[in-house]
Amino acid sequence: MSDDLMPIRPEHVFLYPIDWQHISHFIRFKRAGGVCEHCRRPHGKRVFHLGDGRWWDAERLYWRCAKGRRVRRPAEDILTRGKWTKVVLACAHLHHNPSDSAFDKLAALCQRCHMIHDAPEHRRRRWLNAHCRRALGDLFHGPYPERGADWITPTPISMLES
Ligand SMILES: [Zn+2]
Repeated sequence: MSDDLMPIRPEHVFLYPIDWQHISHFIRFKRAGGVCEHCRRPHGKRVFHLGDGRWWDAERLYWRCAKGRRVRRPAEDILTRGKWTKVVLACAHLHHNPSDSAFDKLAALCQRCHMIHDAPEHRRRRWLNAHCRRALGDLFHGPYPERGADWITPTPISMLES
């Protein structure tokens, strides 16, 4: 077999120049098989769910939890609590670093799991922004004597995890 006919080995294919659309498509539809890698909801389908993560798998005919595992039939009134949502899978950066698209740092996530995954990072950024504003205030307007020197709260432990 000549060199130009040599197929690219699967584990090397993304060392080649390739655009994000290809990577995203690969993660969502080849690796994940078109379902959320956290809760198993299927891309493009309308899913009946209870808002707390539990959803009806219309293909397997059972309820699943937010982690995709089979759970018992809900005891509450699903017709008043339940809602329909169309599932849209996105390829998410698990470490919030878009420049690092290594496969183990990417996940195909539905909009619910994506939002839940990003929430701590969004909280951290909001805190950082607020902290920077206060720091700029200190720099240009001096300290805030009426509130003492320790009025900027330390970073909550929950934001230092992982
Ligand atoms: Zn999900």
